[in-house]
Amino acid sequence: MDRRIDSYLKQMIDEDRLSFFEEVAAFAQKRIAPELLTLEREHRLVPDGLLREMGDLGLFGLPIEAEYEGQGGGQLELVLMGLALGYHSHSFAITPGAATSLGSKPLQLYGSPEQKRAHLPDLARGRRMFVFGLSEPGRGSDAANPEVTATKDGSHWVLRGEKCWSTNARWASHVIVHALTNPDGRPGYRSTCFLVPMDAPGVNYSEMSGKLVWQQSSTGSIAFQNVRVSESAILGRPNEGFKVMVTTLNGGRLFVASLAVASLAFALDRVRHYAQERVQFQDKPIGRFQRVQDVVVDLDIALEQSLTWLIHATKLFDQGVLGREQAAKVKVECSRVASHLMLEAMEVCGGVACLDEFGLMRHHADLFVTRVGEGSNRALKTQIAQPLLPNIKDLLD
Ligand SMILES: Cc1cc2nc3c(=O)[nH]c(=O)nc-3n(C[C@H](O)[C@H](O)[C@H](O)COP(=O)(O)OP(=O)(O)OC[C@H]3O[C@@H](n4cnc5c(N)ncnc54)[C@H](O)[C@@H]3O)c2cc1C
Repeated sequence: MDRRIDSYLKQMIDEDRLSFFEEVAAFAQKRIAPELLTLEREHRLVPDGLLREMGDLGLFGLPIEAEYEGQGGGQLELVLMGLALGYHSHSFAITPGAATSLGSKPLQLYGSPEQKRAHLPDLARGRRMFVFGLSEPGRGSDAANPEVTATKDGSHWVLRGEKCWSTNARWASHVIVHALTNPDGRPGYRSTCFLVPMDAPGVNYSEMSGKLVWQQSSTGSIAFQNVRVSESAILGRPNEGFKVMVTTLNGGRLFVASLAVASLAFALDRVRHYAQERVQFQDKPIGRFQRVQDVVVDLDIALEQSLTWLIHATKLFDQGVLGREQAAKVKVECSRVASHLMLEAMEVCGGVACLDEFGLMRHHADLFVTRVGEGSNRALKTQIAQPLLPNIKDLLD
């Protein structure tokens, strides 16, 4: 059956971008979809061969400038990749997605010319990955005040503490560590970002166990035991690390929204297909029941609405005029609507929706991450409320 999302995208993006989306979607259909069940049942991460194939397609360099061997695209290309790969698997989509929107983006935005030359070409080709080290066991939403510390020792800095939930840690060459450097500074100016090699003495990575979402994506804990780095490891300006992280997250949130919309697109196609083939009561398809049709229509309306908003916001982002709250709103709403409707979609399909091979349960689990990842929706709503209620000065206290 045709994909409903294709017909909407045709009205929203130019021909070149549509061909790009179709190319990545065809790759996902041919190379990823047939592998998924086995990988899930064997609890395996994205295999090295498929990582290489995604690298060969240029997916790790989409928003990186051509002078650094990237594709020279923008956030729109990333979002289209999220839609195309996320339709089958958030895990596969987030691997190049986090590598670019969280891994290489801070370097593009704040890296020195030397840092860019040293790393961006390899990142663009998918030969290496950077991890975004913001979250910690004791610091999630309250990320501005990290417990990981960096203290000066002569010409070096010494890092101590632990990061967690680090996407792509398994394959990473470096982690961008957000560390406390100036505890007495004013809020937002207490931390610095450091580029730390994963093989530096004192860095210990372990894959987080027991995770029931994004099962093929690597999620690591990274501990730092007296890790020494030089001044040249600083990314951006000293004590302005939070700005590096927060600016990066705006694009990342649009990417996460693309995963939620991809799940909606998958659910719509799955339900309308199943509603026409599954027969009950006098051998007639369940799609003749109006209460089943309601869900098909709700999914279709939500897909068109969310996609329209996402593409519009992403174009504004690429023009440099999307506000921070706007990016947050798109993520909050797309993830809320998609996860709500996913349960409806599963219910109208009945028991078969419980099976892994049917695909909806995977999306149901993975959509949870779109609600808490890159800023929990409830915490983000506090940020969204801030400019709406300007007279309440301590809204975030
Ligand atoms: C699969 C996965 C991958 C991830 N990848 C990365 C990564 O690559 N790099 C990285 O740095 N992080 C990553 N994260 C971490 C993610 O960004 C955090 O989970 C998120 O920021 C929320 O932090 P927390 O889970 O510690 O929740 P907490 O901060 O403990 O919050 C728990 C809940 O309290 C409520 N709450 C908290 N603050 C507020 C507030 N201000 N207003 C209202 N309600 C509030 C919300 O309901 C929130 O969900 C990942 C997470 C997951 C699950």
